[in-house]
Amino acid sequence: MGLPVATSWFERTKVDDAITLVWEPHVVPLMRCNIWHVAGRDRDLLVDTGMGVASIVEAVGDLFEHGVTAVATHGHDDHIGGHHEFDDVVAHPLEASSLETAPLRSLHIVEAWGQEVVDVLEASGYPMHDEYFVDALPVGVALETFRQRPARVTRLVDEGDVIDLGDRVFEVLHLPGHSPGSIGLWEAATGTLFSGDAIYDGPLLDELPESDIAAYCATMERLIALPATVVHGGHEASFGRQRLVEICDRYLALRG
Ligand SMILES: [Zn+2]
Repeated sequence: MGLPVATSWFERTKVDDAITLVWEPHVVPLMRCNIWHVAGRDRDLLVDTGMGVASIVEAVGDLFEHGVTAVATHGHDDHIGGHHEFDDVVAHPLEASSLETAPLRSLHIVEAWGQEVVDVLEASGYPMHDEYFVDALPVGVALETFRQRPARVTRLVDEGDVIDLGDRVFEVLHLPGHSPGSIGLWEAATGTLFSGDAIYDGPLLDELPESDIAAYCATMERLIALPATVVHGGHEASFGRQRLVEICDRYLALRG
């Protein structure tokens, strides 16, 4: 039962002078999250860290010019696998326990999540034909023994708290719905939102056991009112204000 060995695990592309998108091409699309690096004057920001199958510090450490603040937009297993590699780890209080218990104990999808969650995902628009979360493995990682490693959350944040990189300031927005402690990072000066799984340009998940559709509707109303010019989501491609409003309106028409 071998999967092929992948010699490089992460890929990256520069978005602009300061922002780099990093992702894991061998993780199945549903679980392939966007990892965002922002280079600041005094600190580096990392928004989410992927599955934790390979070391993100080894792979993209050359991008880091200062100490790294690793933020978890929420505690889902596809976003928090690499946080254990950092000593400045930021999350919302309602998500911190997920990081500290390292949710993913198997790379086998049904074994890890149970059939019920897999059925919810299928009904939400994700074909669930894959047996594993990955279609290859990094050198030295075994399918049978992989476990995510727990991280230590060193700073709890909530609505209105600030992540300060020296020359750039991100405000924490509490955006519940997908999960209770989902947060976004909002930079008013540039109209930039790192939104995690609160909003991205693909099927949104609001029927997971920890999801809350009424809260999600309120989050969508809030996002419509936000003067964002670019949204860097937890999955899929980035988008602008018009698409933001379209996605929110569509969600509210369906669920509101
Ligand atoms: Zn999620």
